[in-house]
Amino acid sequence: KSRAKRFERGESSVTFDDVAGLENAKRDLREIADYLKNPEHYRELGAKIPKGILLMGPPGTGKTLMAKALAGESDVPFFSISGSEFIEMFVGVGASRVRDMFASAKKEAPAIIFIDEIDSVGRARGTGLGGGHDEREQTLNQILGEMDGFDPHETVVVIAATNRPDVLDAALLRPGRFDRKITVDLPDKKARLAILKTHSRKTPLAGDVDLERLAALTVGFSGADLENMVNEAALLAGREDMSEVDMNCMLNARDRVVLGSEREMVIGE
Ligand code: ATP
Repeated sequence: KSRAKRFERGESSVTFDDVAGLENAKRDLREIADYLKNPEHYRELGAKIPKGILLMGPPGTGKTLMAKALAGESDVPFFSISGSEFIEMFVGVGASRVRDMFASAKKEAPAIIFIDEIDSVGRARGTGLGGGHDEREQTLNQILGEMDGFDPHETVVVIAATNRPDVLDAALLRPGRFDRKITVDLPDKKARLAILKTHSRKTPLAGDVDLERLAALTVGFSGADLENMVNEAALLAGREDMSEVDMNCMLNARDRVVLGSEREMVIGE
């Protein structure tokens, strides 16, 4: 059996407390967590549990973290796969992975399935005009078919993430599919401060470190950028043989993160 990893399955220990900011998204997902914890209760009330939730927002804003937190809060297993893994696969492989993953999740229901970068398989179909997108299309059709085929007793919630909601095939957004949309925005100053606090919990900080000021100086940073900045600062402190991370390290690290993302932009063009 030399088959490569098909999908990930895990128990999540992340909770909503690990996600800084994103209060609206958390409020919506708390509802889903409650469904997942008491599916029978909702079913007795005749309520239909949402099947698909689309998390939309820029890279690094915590979409994956949010999906894991939902699994952790609901205490259900977490199955995940990334849309980008299907690119350049042989026709049929993506569809069979999707089938396997849904079958495993149903067996362990209630469960959560997370599909990252859904746009890589879920772009509007028929735009390639015979451009050899069979694999992508089959994978997408399999996802849609699986979601349509859920038995009402199978409490599996599918969360998909994208930073390109504009390119998605309309079929994905139809009722009964990804009909709940949650926006995950870049953090504002208050959220950036919360993220900086979370990610510097284990970092020994010198007395001059002013997280409020750093939050003000990091407009446009995602949670992932902020995490990266704290880590860069710790690396700088390590290189200087310091026992604490000071404000200077933080400011230098901030510049590095800014430069790093500018460089990426140039290369990406
Ligand atoms: P992508 O679109 O690139 O997949 P994403 O939105 O799924 O990104 P995550 O992978 O969840 O982003 O975030 C990357 C890391 O950044 C997380 O593991 C976490 O450490 C940190 N992070 C991002 N947003 C937050 C947040 N709101 N609170 C705490 N940490 C965050």
